[in-house]
Amino acid sequence: MPELPEAESIARALDRALKRRKITKVEVFCPKLRTSLAPLRKSGLVGRTFTGCRRRARYAVADLDDGRALTMHFGMSGVVRVEDAKKPRRKHEHAVLTLDDGKAFKFEDPRRFGLLEVQKLGPDGWPECLAGIGVEPLSPAFNGRFLFDVSRKRKKPVKELLMDNAVVTGIGNIYAAETLFASKVRPQRPASTLTRGECDRIAKNAKRILRLAIKWGGTTVSDYRNVDGSEGRFVQKLKIYGQKKCPVCAQDVEKVVLGGRTSWYCPRCQK
Ligand SMILES: [Zn+2]
Repeated sequence: MPELPEAESIARALDRALKRRKITKVEVFCPKLRTSLAPLRKSGLVGRTFTGCRRRARYAVADLDDGRALTMHFGMSGVVRVEDAKKPRRKHEHAVLTLDDGKAFKFEDPRRFGLLEVQKLGPDGWPECLAGIGVEPLSPAFNGRFLFDVSRKRKKPVKELLMDNAVVTGIGNIYAAETLFASKVRPQRPASTLTRGECDRIAKNAKRILRLAIKWGGTTVSDYRNVDGSEGRFVQKLKIYGQKKCPVCAQDVEKVVLGGRTSWYCPRCQK
């Protein structure tokens, strides 16, 4: 599932590929993903020009010249491509926007949990469907003090707190596991037991790891591909997620399921 670094990588690539491109044709090949795709056909996209693309949480937001934005979420298996419009359509390409430079924006999603909608921008300058999501982990608002404050009354495991989109958005399973390993904190610890020092370490490591992952183009675990079809190379940098031995002390890595997601941790290094 694409997390923040993957969404950021996609948004940056789409910014380069879509900026100043005019939409010349809209095709929709299936009725719905997470929501109906039918409105895309009727939303007056033909003739509109993209002005850029940016990210919020795990969404990529491609701005249009009429104050609306093509908003996308990649669900479990969503992939976008911008490639030669003449390339034959793949089986799960559900929406294709042809552009004025001979290329096409293609949204492919075999499992159909993704989202592709034209949205009005709200007063905060972001699509209205993104109101009410938590702080961005790379913003100054996400820091040790914030994490300490929000964790005081929460008994749920710290890993679930880091993955709660209403608190902090876009960290996700892989980066939560890597952050907690780097911070020497076990994923199953009740959030309320975190010390202020641990909160500082977690916030710092989350930012460092997310930035590193963005630099390496995200992490390809199964379906994720960047806009040009390339794989994310951060997978080579994973220290605990999916590992068998701790890279620090060589102890066998243990697994625990929290909130329905598997977590890996070192029982020696993480307290
Ligand atoms: Zn260890």
